[in-house]
Amino acid sequence: MKHTIEVMISEEEIKARVEQLGQQISEHYQHSDNLVMVGLLRGSFVFMADLARAITVNHSVDFMTASSYGNSMQSSRDVHILKDLDDNIEGKDVLLVEDIIDTGNTLSKVLQILNLRGPNSIQICTLLDKPIRREEDVDVKWVGFAIPDEFVVGVGIDYAQKYRHLPYIGKVIPSE
Ligand code: 5GP
Ligand code: MG
Ligand code: MG
Repeated sequence: MKHTIEVMISEEEIKARVEQLGQQISEHYQHSDNLVMVGLLRGSFVFMADLARAITVNHSVDFMTASSYGNSMQSSRDVHILKDLDDNIEGKDVLLVEDIIDTGNTLSKVLQILNLRGPNSIQICTLLDKPIRREEDVDVKWVGFAIPDEFVVGVGIDYAQKYRHLPYIGKVIPSE
């Protein structure tokens, strides 16, 4: 599909928001000595790196890849772990970092899986949220930006594996 990219959220706005999130998260975890940031690959890798540097509380980082196989004819969708965490999260304070929450299906399944491992706590921070698309109720503590139901790219988020490197969030506009 031929398309163009239109800036929706600028690099400057993102930088400022990541700083604010970093401060709020650091305050929340100021007494924690077992914080682990868990990034969901691949989309979260850029936000994860920026956010990690904005958090002043010492923490470790880990990553997992979850893939959801959606079938529009079915209401229940399965989430499959393609790459699991390297470390045990038992007793840890887990900060789950996501690029964008849409239906909430992926995150609610990942939460179920991680909760079985006995973490001390789990909270979610997402760069983007499309609240209007929500199907599964997920308690998201920190949201960078709530956006309308538009297909976006940039800051780690792809369109057919392209545009992850863009330093801003762009909207994909179909063109002929
Ligand atoms: P959910 O399980 O919440 O429906 O799915 C969230 C995932 O859908 C995101 O992590 C992302 O991979 C994908 N997604 C949702 N909205 C967008 C979007 O606007 N652009 C892109 N590139 N991916 C999206
Ligand atoms: Mg994602
Ligand atoms: Mg994708």
